[in-house]
Amino acid sequence: TAQIIDGKAIAEQVRGEWKKRADALKAQGVLPGLAVIIVGDNPASKVYVRNKVRACHDVGLHSEVHELPADITEAMLLKQIQDLNANPDIHGILVQLPLPDHISDDKVLETIDVEKDVDGFHLYNLGALVAGNTVFPPCTPYGVQCLIEHTNIPIEGQNAVVVGRSNIVGKPMALMLLHKGATVSICTSKTRDLAFYTRLADILVVAVGRPGLITADMVKEGAAVLDVGINRTDEGKLVGDVDFESVKEKAGHITPVPGGVGPMTISMLVANTVLAAERLSGLGSGKLQDT
Ligand code: NAD
Repeated sequence: TAQIIDGKAIAEQVRGEWKKRADALKAQGVLPGLAVIIVGDNPASKVYVRNKVRACHDVGLHSEVHELPADITEAMLLKQIQDLNANPDIHGILVQLPLPDHISDDKVLETIDVEKDVDGFHLYNLGALVAGNTVFPPCTPYGVQCLIEHTNIPIEGQNAVVVGRSNIVGKPMALMLLHKGATVSICTSKTRDLAFYTRLADILVVAVGRPGLITADMVKEGAAVLDVGINRTDEGKLVGDVDFESVKEKAGHITPVPGGVGPMTISMLVANTVLAAERLSGLGSGKLQDT
């Protein structure tokens, strides 16, 4: 049976490390601040935002939520972002996705000051990640990388397979594993024989949003399986994309849902906010901890 990776415990440990850096800034008069913008009332988005704010609070950061109506114009939203860009008390700006259809995600993300882009979704930051000079690593894939590293699972030379190729999870995940020396395959809904690839994986990261997509027969004996998916069943239970009960009998390591990748994502947001505050204030190392 697989070792179950306790994302909650690791996330708390990571948060504790970043709290020390936040405390050092505070002792020098800089209170790291995060602004979260949420447009409309998507219930899932509200839960995510609440969890992010709570994590900032736990670490002693300043955080503020700007709740905007679903019918806000794109111009007004961009103006809000520009005001936050200019606000010296705010070091990180996050716009919770998805946005209403009449607003361009790209325009919004590119309006965020690169130095405050704690989600790492600005085109510049995505490009820097491609080049291997990450400014702010996108929180979810960086959280997955930290889970792998904290569990001492080797990456260099291993076969890594990422299922899903979104800009916020799959693609940056594949790049991070590539930079760490893995041989990486990326699978999508167009992949002809998904199981062929997943069976090759020493490290399998799944970020699709389809419960039960990955079954035990698709997993190599002893593989590390990291499940990013979040799905709600008809009974209201949260499950990932991996059939946890069967796959845990075959894998070497596996993340549960909930309690795996989710809490790490939020710790990485805290990390990026502290990092942004260090860089903007010129205090502290301004460097990612290489965990
Ligand atoms: P997305 O919808 O943008 O992308 C899904 C990807 O899956 C696409 O690239 C698509 O090609 C691929 N795909 C779809 N069907 C497939 C199939 N049958 N086989 C192989 N690939 C297939 O999703 P996303 O934003 O990347 O999120 C993916 C999942 O991760 C969702 O469940 C989301 O809720 C979850 N998520 C979790 C966290 C977290 O913190 N844990 C953060 C972000 C997203």
